[in-house]
Amino acid sequence: YQSEMSDLKELGELGFGTSGHVFKMLHVPSQEVIAVKQMRRSGNPEENKRIAMDLEVVLKSHDCPYIVQCLGCFITDSEVWICMELMSTCFDKLLKRLSTSIPEPVIGKVTLATVRALHYLKENHDVIHRDVKPSNILLDNRGNVKLCDFGISGHLVNSKANTKNAGCTAYLAPERINPPDPRKPDYDIRADVWSLGITLLELATGSFPYPGCNSDFEVLSRVLQDEPPSLPATANFSQEFRDFTQACLSKDYKVRPKYKKLLEHPFLRRYMEENVDVASWYAHVMPTTPSPIHRANETGPAVA
Ligand code: ADP
Ligand code: MG
Repeated sequence: YQSEMSDLKELGELGFGTSGHVFKMLHVPSQEVIAVKQMRRSGNPEENKRIAMDLEVVLKSHDCPYIVQCLGCFITDSEVWICMELMSTCFDKLLKRLSTSIPEPVIGKVTLATVRALHYLKENHDVIHRDVKPSNILLDNRGNVKLCDFGISGHLVNSKANTKNAGCTAYLAPERINPPDPRKPDYDIRADVWSLGITLLELATGSFPYPGCNSDFEVLSRVLQDEPPSLPATANFSQEFRDFTQACLSKDYKVRPKYKKLLEHPFLRRYMEENVDVASWYAHVMPTTPSPIHRANETGPAVA
């Protein structure tokens, strides 16, 4: 219903990134607690484009259960606020707070939701996400996994993206780092499949798969030069999971699978069938989640 910005009371910070801060806020009239992404309109055209894209994608994805839902927005001369359903955490924060790694069945459900969200964006809106990484994958307390952050998403033309608009360098696919013709970028959704592969290794091992790099340049060089990273041979992962991550991390994007093929992969097939109680797992590993008011004031590393 009709609401005003003054109906919202700030309860603490949930996160921040390149485009703005996300706050936990109480909608006083309904007593509902929501998440609000607040972005300043500086007048910078690049930034305006990010805000417009973020809003556009989130608004038109209202029918996808794997994408964070928008409840409404406020647009003033100086700010844009996107009001969203409140989620519990993102996987980046979760990894930092966990003392154990994330079990494979939970990763299976995360992968399934993320692939379905990306496939939905491509099939229904011809949109490529371009910033797939743990901090843009959210989890709620019922165990639902949803994709967020569409600031640098892009429209596909004939299934190809044609702008340089880069996501987080650490997750960039080889064909985006070193395009055949640097003046004319030309890549497709398989660039996001690579980023998903890197994300999965990070979730499974708890650390970024190119360790010891001191700069973006070092990471980018290693992505281009090294064999693609893989799950550690010694750890107890299923063959299906190993095979799935290996396929996502094919350096040659022409052999890297697209979403339809990924959705037919035995690893995802298994998690379409199998029940995994992600909510109970989360409640178990995060038994004393402090309130966001405390989280915002935290200084030292958090221990669950
Ligand atoms: P940015 O473009 O600045 O990266 P994001 O949309 O990714 O913005 O949000 C930044 C962070 O805020 C996320 O990584 C996540 O930790 C948190 N966050 C975003 N949306 C929500 C939400 N709906 N519920 C809870 N936390 C959220
Ligand atoms: Mg983000």
